[in-house]
Amino acid sequence: MQKTLFFIAFLFCGFATLAQSDVQMVEETVSRSNIEGHIYFLADDLLKGRQTGTPELKIAATYLATQLRSYGVKPDPTTGSYFQAMPMQKNFPPATMELTVNGQKMENAVAMSQGNVDFSGTMVYMGFGLEADYQDVDVKGKVVIVKAGNEEGGGAQQAFGLIGDKTALAQKNGAIGVIEFIDTNDQIWGFIDHQFNEPRVGLASSEDEEDSIPFLWVKDTGGTIAAGLWQKNPEGSFTMAKKAAEKLDSYNVVGWVEGSDPKLKEEFIIYSGHYDHVGIGTPDATGDTIYNGARDNAVGVTTVLSMAENLAKYPTKRSALFILFTGEEMGLLGSRYYVENPILPLNKMVYCFNSDNAGYNDTSLATIIGLPRTTAADHIKNACKQFGLTAVDDPAPEQGLFDRSDNVNFARVGIPAPTFSLGFTAFNGDVTKYYHRPGDEADNIDYEYMEKFFKSYVLAGRLIGNDPVTPTWTAGDKYEEASKELYGN
Ligand SMILES: [Zn+2]
Repeated sequence: MQKTLFFIAFLFCGFATLAQSDVQMVEETVSRSNIEGHIYFLADDLLKGRQTGTPELKIAATYLATQLRSYGVKPDPTTGSYFQAMPMQKNFPPATMELTVNGQKMENAVAMSQGNVDFSGTMVYMGFGLEADYQDVDVKGKVVIVKAGNEEGGGAQQAFGLIGDKTALAQKNGAIGVIEFIDTNDQIWGFIDHQFNEPRVGLASSEDEEDSIPFLWVKDTGGTIAAGLWQKNPEGSFTMAKKAAEKLDSYNVVGWVEGSDPKLKEEFIIYSGHYDHVGIGTPDATGDTIYNGARDNAVGVTTVLSMAENLAKYPTKRSALFILFTGEEMGLLGSRYYVENPILPLNKMVYCFNSDNAGYNDTSLATIIGLPRTTAADHIKNACKQFGLTAVDDPAPEQGLFDRSDNVNFARVGIPAPTFSLGFTAFNGDVTKYYHRPGDEADNIDYEYMEKFFKSYVLAGRLIGNDPVTPTWTAGDKYEEASKELYGN
């Protein structure tokens, strides 16, 4: 008995002397070799620039899930998986498409909406093809020809916004296809042609495209083709055979660690960053075509992995949720999808500490987009100071960076959400030298600086996660209202 008591006393005693400070815990798990391992793998040419929708992005996702698993981070409690599938699809141009009007074959056309049609006969001119144009005209079984846009204008952008309405109207009235002539220049047409006449990956369509009718845009610079058609009903033929979209999934990678405090563990800090990049593209001067995305955003991913490894070993009082987003470069898709489909209730998420990076041009700094906008600013500043860095706010507000990364999707629903970035004093020099360029590679990064940067992030996360006071938006912030709504206070 006594022996046991003594043993317990010894244990407690030992525990007290071995108790580590947050700084020591950070020093213990964040190392240069770990950091290099993550960045070199994620930025390898093998992954072909980690474009959303490619098999190489799934390799990256598997790497991330494997890391989380090896740390002992828990998967999504509802599915038991580290992957959150985001439904996407690969769209193709139609299998066949041909238009002839008054004996003239139209060479420059794109299907804005696909459908199966095989028509030959008299087409019906319908003005703009808006509601009023359909009164007293029988278009059943016919292909209709319309002017682009409406009374206010017929530019590509204006016209694009009306395609849905015009298609629905034509279909409602029994037409089997719509042809619209677009008066636009070669540059804009080049962009449209590239967008719609080549395979492209996007979010899975929620609309039922099964029985939609085709909507065709025909390039008509100067309006010369159409001029001869207005007010008459031309003869022609129009055929199109749809090519079905290919369904595919892209993945957010998720995991979580339970907090150590019985009460505070009900609150979560989100640690996030996107792991996709822009893939393969225009070659640089050396002929390199792979946009490796080492800074953008293998670095951000490494902040999250560093945090996960640390917290799995030494949890903070608050719980932690780690999210690595897909689809950021395609328009913040992964984070938007996550916010619409959270794996844990959003109102338990009290902070989102995101990391996204373009590059750095000052290795004495960490630049935090939105630093003064949350009450955790002092923790972030102190953490940086501990490792010899100075935390500064966004120096380039004209770039609108706060609204250009995944943090904004969390901010909009009310969650305080700054973005932790590599140090830059202006969006120029070495930032723009590497931003979205093939040269953004693992071997031109300063790893001595990286070590300070990742340690600062992990310590900041620990200080926020252990603070008895819950972080909030700074009073008067534009997202304060959303925050009140989310947390109900
Ligand atoms: Zn990025």
